[in-house]
Amino acid sequence: MSDYVEWIQEILTALGYDPGPVDGVNGEKTDAAIRLFQKENDLAVDGQVGELTHSALLLAHSMVDLKLDQDGKLVLKDFTPDEFTCECGCGLDICDRLKAFAQRLRDQFGWPLVISSGARCPTVNEAVGGVPDSCHLTGHAFDAYFPGQMNEEVINQMADYAISQEIGVIRYPNQLFCHFQIPLRNEIIY
Ligand SMILES: [Zn+2]
Ligand SMILES: [Zn+2]
Repeated sequence: MSDYVEWIQEILTALGYDPGPVDGVNGEKTDAAIRLFQKENDLAVDGQVGELTHSALLLAHSMVDLKLDQDGKLVLKDFTPDEFTCECGCGLDICDRLKAFAQRLRDQFGWPLVISSGARCPTVNEAVGGVPDSCHLTGHAFDAYFPGQMNEEVINQMADYAISQEIGVIRYPNQLFCHFQIPLRNEIIY
């Protein structure tokens, strides 16, 4: 019996696969469910949860329970669509995976989360002093903080949660916010 197998079984169940009972035992049904998941996600079908399958499971799980509106846009419980778009009104948006992460981060801490910067077109990125290759430019980053709650400990907890979800993070302890991004990254900038 293993906690890791149990975790895999929980995710597979949530995703609608049938790994059998969540008992931490990698039996026939769990093996079949892992293989089916791998097949449907274009992964090597070997029944082993290596790095790629692990990431695919996390990604698929982060998209579970999310609602789409009639235009196929993600509907979040605590955020309006314009909270993540470029501030100039050009319509540039961040990716769904990061939006879903923002909602989970909010749920995890239970506090309102302010998105201080989402997607940025080149004009806006330059105006706010963003680096030329910023992930904000492609909609793969957002900056956020919990008003009135921020300190170094909370920043570290936010970063730990991001890493656990395979989301990259840059901590800004002096400015009391975190930058979240895809791809993975883990840095502190003072
Ligand atoms: Zn813009
Ligand atoms: Zn940022």
